[in-house]
Amino acid sequence: MNTLFISDLHLDAERPDGIGLFVRFIERETPTTEALYILGDLFEAWIGDDVTDAEFKPVIGALADLKRRGVPCYFMHGNRDFLIGKRFATATGCRLLGEYEVIEVAGERVLLTHGDLLCTDDEPYMALRAMVREPAWQRDFLAKPIEERRAFADDLRDKSRAAAAEKPPEIMDVNQQTVESVMRDHGVDLLLHGHTHRPGIHRFTLDGSKATRIVLGDWYEQGSAVRWNNGGFRLETPAP
Ligand code: MN
Repeated sequence: MNTLFISDLHLDAERPDGIGLFVRFIERETPTTEALYILGDLFEAWIGDDVTDAEFKPVIGALADLKRRGVPCYFMHGNRDFLIGKRFATATGCRLLGEYEVIEVAGERVLLTHGDLLCTDDEPYMALRAMVREPAWQRDFLAKPIEERRAFADDLRDKSRAAAAEKPPEIMDVNQQTVESVMRDHGVDLLLHGHTHRPGIHRFTLDGSKATRIVLGDWYEQGSAVRWNNGGFRLETPAP
């Protein structure tokens, strides 16, 4: 049996291919999966649980089916879908996780996080993040009319694209000191995250011991998943 990890699917009503890829992945993996962890940015944008595009019904359905068949699903917020809330959790059966979680997989302690918190060199983003994660800001935002919320999300996406085009690539990646300090704080030598869209396995030395950082890829062109079982972990590209 496998524990599966995915992130950065960026599902979008305008990209049915991505939705199909995700639904097929879940259906195919369900019989051999022990638990599924979605580490954020399942959706390209999420402006509140009260606004679910009809195109996302198969996504909600696939997750609910997974739960019905006895496979627990855990969801961690990303920077695009940080407004996913209790209603979504109830509809899908996913359990919402905090921004850092230590779990045990096949006898190993692993720290999970979306990954944006590790990109501490990107100061403007960290400031924006602090604002939109405030409960008061979120209450305010969710009380706004849907059209206004949609316009805000579109604007944020345009601004983030424009800013990303200007920022040097290393600023958009994790800061190694931050990585080491959060791993030290949580007492782990394994870290698994997404967000940067730079899939890979990084091995380094942390306080004299071997440490590993596993990075999930995005699902824009193809899928990306970590499969973990008693034989260890594998970063792979799911079949289309
Ligand atoms: Mn992200």
